[in-house]
Amino acid sequence: MLATFVLCACKAPMTTRPESSSPKALLECIDVGQGNACLWRTGSHAVLFDAGPDSMGILDSLKVRGIDSLDWLLLSHGHRDHVGGAWELLGHIKIGCIHVGLDTTHPWGTDSVRTLAKRYGIRVDTLVRGDTLPDLSPWHVRVIWPPRLRETGDNGASLVVHVRDDVQSFLYTGDIGFAQESEILQLEPDLHTSILQVPHHGSATSSSLAFVGQLNPSLAFILVGIHNEYGHPTLEALQRLTAVLGDSSRIWRTDQRGTLRVVFTYDFGIGE
Ligand SMILES: [Zn+2]
Repeated sequence: MLATFVLCACKAPMTTRPESSSPKALLECIDVGQGNACLWRTGSHAVLFDAGPDSMGILDSLKVRGIDSLDWLLLSHGHRDHVGGAWELLGHIKIGCIHVGLDTTHPWGTDSVRTLAKRYGIRVDTLVRGDTLPDLSPWHVRVIWPPRLRETGDNGASLVVHVRDDVQSFLYTGDIGFAQESEILQLEPDLHTSILQVPHHGSATSSSLAFVGQLNPSLAFILVGIHNEYGHPTLEALQRLTAVLGDSSRIWRTDQRGTLRVVFTYDFGIGE
């Protein structure tokens, strides 16, 4: 099943923006079961936030969309539900650069990606807070987390990346938890987002009221496998998300809807 949502015109006068109904980006959080793989496309760019677990068909998912190259592939951290699918991409999809974070607690994941990347001549860069990625015009991409030299690993070391233009945005959070959310609030007191990738598949120890409340998203995406062994998303996280968003219909789950699809247009507002 494919769920589609259009962030489109409510107030912008059509006469001033004749291109207003044309898409300026397409976001698809691909149903890869328990794991993350979010594809962001503009007219001339395609990038991927995590590659899902192994053998869940991320390569076929890209091929069926006519994608044979990515500007970059970002791997938030070393867990298999985020990195595993990368192995089937390398050598079959042209990748401009692979971006990784500071998580070194699962070297088998990122080290094997590094080995393959070297074989195929793909650059691997480590990102930290404050880094920016080349613009995906008109979108700017900024790394929010983790700070340099922070001794943290596993989920807490996930890259958090904010993609935004003047009016709309997407916050990719990987698998961060309460502690990282709290620090991000301190570092980014003005951070907001239109669409939130709910941290850590809706775990009980992520998506604090304070964090979701400040971000104030219009839509929350939970990337989760049906009947997964972790009990994600948890009732606690769902209750906090609903409390902030005010309407559970604004919480979209891949286990219920399949691939989640949003079109950003040049108008500002929310419509469905
Ligand atoms: Zn995960």
